[in-house]
Amino acid sequence: MTYAAPLADIKFVLENVAGLGKVTALPVFAEATPDLVESILEEAAKIAADTLAPLNRIGDTDGAKLVDGKVRVSPGWQEAWNVLVDGGWNGLPFSPEHGGMGLPNVLNTAVHEMWQAANMAFTLCPMLTQGAVNAVESYGTAEQKALYLPKMVTGEWTGTMNLTEPGAGSDLAAIRTKAVPEGDHYRISGSKIFITYGDHEMVENIIHLVLARLPDAPAGVKGISLFIVPKFLVNADGSLGARNDAVCASLEHKLGIHGSPTAVMAFGEKDGAIGTLVGEANRGLEYMFTMMNHARQAVGLQGLAIAERAYQQALYYARERVQGKPTGWTGSGPTGIVNHPDVRRMLMTMKCQIEAMRGLIYSAAAYVDIAHNHDDAAERARAQLLADLYTPLVKGWSTELGNVIASLGVQVHGGMGYVEETGAAQHFRDARITTIYEGTTAIQANDLVLRKTLRDGGQGIRVLLADVAATADAAAAAGLAIGAKLKAAINTAIACTDWLVGAAKEDPRLPAGAAVPFLELMGIVVGAQMMAKAAVVAQGATDGFLAAKLVTADFYADHVLSKVDGLGQSIQAGSKAIMALDEALL
Ligand SMILES: Cc1cc2nc3c(=O)[nH]c(=O)nc-3n(C[C@H](O)[C@H](O)[C@H](O)COP(=O)(O)OP(=O)(O)OC[C@H]3O[C@@H](n4cnc5c(N)ncnc54)[C@H](O)[C@@H]3O)c2cc1C
Repeated sequence: MTYAAPLADIKFVLENVAGLGKVTALPVFAEATPDLVESILEEAAKIAADTLAPLNRIGDTDGAKLVDGKVRVSPGWQEAWNVLVDGGWNGLPFSPEHGGMGLPNVLNTAVHEMWQAANMAFTLCPMLTQGAVNAVESYGTAEQKALYLPKMVTGEWTGTMNLTEPGAGSDLAAIRTKAVPEGDHYRISGSKIFITYGDHEMVENIIHLVLARLPDAPAGVKGISLFIVPKFLVNADGSLGARNDAVCASLEHKLGIHGSPTAVMAFGEKDGAIGTLVGEANRGLEYMFTMMNHARQAVGLQGLAIAERAYQQALYYARERVQGKPTGWTGSGPTGIVNHPDVRRMLMTMKCQIEAMRGLIYSAAAYVDIAHNHDDAAERARAQLLADLYTPLVKGWSTELGNVIASLGVQVHGGMGYVEETGAAQHFRDARITTIYEGTTAIQANDLVLRKTLRDGGQGIRVLLADVAATADAAAAAGLAIGAKLKAAINTAIACTDWLVGAAKEDPRLPAGAAVPFLELMGIVVGAQMMAKAAVVAQGATDGFLAAKLVTADFYADHVLSKVDGLGQSIQAGSKAIMALDEALL
């Protein structure tokens, strides 16, 4: 079973849910005509199916290896990378000034959904490279931009994100890597762990973005600076110079994404790796958030992508596998397990949440486009507020769902899902990392609750919920059942927001204990908004693609949105029990 991009739904969500039209109406995206958008999606779907998907299994069974000091990628990876470079794909969302296509972020998101679904271990490389380009484009000096961007934008050089150290994972304040000034550059030394695509031979140079501390830096997050540390130094004319003192010490052995090299990086084992400062000293973490926000949305997209892949696999298997006569089955002859009501329940559970995630993630990407490019300041501010609130939902909710859905994919296969033969098990293993890297689900929930809800007393969340309410009203006016159910869920969300703000004054541990359930609740509610938007467009349809939208919206309302009540109760009542734990944990 291979992968076929769900182009009909991708286009429907882009146009009807995420509001691609509003984005392409911005003067900066004048080039993004409907024809161009269409051909990019079609071409990207072909690359996903013909180039990347066939390599997914090979990446799993013959993953990246460190051989004689060099990282050997999986067979076929190099050729696939060349396809992306030759097509200029890496530059899709970047400014033409640096060699990019200047197209919307939301379109890039749709393209990357297909590639992540086809081959997540491979697509981590373009994902991180795009994040690195964003950081250099936003904060680099004119000289750094001229030196690094052209080849990073084409994908001739790739990029990495070097944050994590043995003592600094979720807590980046604990970073110890040192940067000592020396003339016009710095000497970097320290050890970074878990660095995705930290080394490989697919390209002639790798541009590491590294967090480190200057000798006089204040303690904590306010003393972290960001550096560019290339694998090979780059001469002023762009040619490659000496090998830098930044090497891959080893590769991790891991549960999934075997095709993605996860490197332990040793900086400055000899004289100190040469690096240049990005922006101002001690503002590194703030700059890195540019990469992290991009990466958080991109990892959330992996949750959707792996879920879609697992769904396609499960649906295919359920049609083929014959086992018993389904309850109530009146057809003649044997039929696939797809007609057992419980198998249908599992498949519908997968399908409706995939649609909700796609709406959420594409909408978040569209808000980023508007926040960066609209000429009206009020529109920019509103889009930024919503993008900021959506980002932890995209990352936290979609990756948790990716795991649940990949697990359901295994369940649909029965024993054939647990053994490796069908590929369902690989999706389950690959999905597992997505709730961990780029900040665990708890870190996303802390961002949503402690930073983005408590700091403004819940005002931002109310703006978001008012937007959801407008959709709920439209759905109710159209006579769609999801409308009234969504309105009730919004009331629960508001009650929980008020509770969080009040509880924080009583005991700061209470909102922290309720943060992950609140993130799930908000993910479900905003997901329901996406389903309702689609249903409003589909109202009245009686067959085909649009009628199916009405069915998945109903199913979502009854099977997913209905969880909001229970979550509301656990948030408001259950948090105290979490903190009364010492004996309970024994
Ligand atoms: C395959 C892979 C690829 C990776 N790629 C990269 C990369 O390219 N670049 C990079 O820099 N890093 C990378 N990472 C590192 C990754 O981002 C970290 O593993 C992640 O941030 C979690 O940090 P940790 O592993 O130290 O876990 P810890 O921080 O030790 O967390 C352990 C547990 O404690 C919880 N916890 C910790 N702090 C809090 C808190 N404040 N509130 C609530 N709960 C908390 C966590 O949620 C988690 O459940 C990668 C990791 C892996 C496994």
